[in-house]
Amino acid sequence: MQRPEWYADGLAFSCTQCGNCCTGPEGAVWFSLEEETAMARHLGLEIEEFRRRCTKKLGRGRSLAERVTEHGHDCVFLDRERIPGKAVCSIYEVRPLQCRTWPWWPENLGSRRAWEATKKRVPCPGMGTGRPHAYQEIRVVRDRQAASPDPAW
Ligand code: SF4
Repeated sequence: MQRPEWYADGLAFSCTQCGNCCTGPEGAVWFSLEEETAMARHLGLEIEEFRRRCTKKLGRGRSLAERVTEHGHDCVFLDRERIPGKAVCSIYEVRPLQCRTWPWWPENLGSRRAWEATKKRVPCPGMGTGRPHAYQEIRVVRDRQAASPDPAW
């Protein structure tokens, strides 16, 4: 018989809008062609313009660009001005799947140790606090992230 996942009783998570997951060391935010079209349209930009201004070539794919700030490599869409003391996504409605599925990524859910390590490394004060999320809900999001296509395009 298969053993239940360690988070079978669900996990708590509420974003505090600290922005830590959108900065730090240089990273990658992958997106699909459909997501690129949605982001460009949201900003009123042609695809080529969007690519030039908001993305960077990275390895075999293309990632959202970053800006070096006193906090680290901020995502190009991280807005630290709009709400005092908060850091929010300026394209929240059309953000890529990778952002939508945080923190329910397969690598974060692999074990309790992995979950705790990610919570500490980011650090993400929202993980483990706030709204309870049921196992079934977490699993659906986890599997969507796991099935996301290869970013190489
Ligand atoms: S690190 Fe966690 S709490 Fe902070 S913005 Fe990201 S998801 Fe929200």
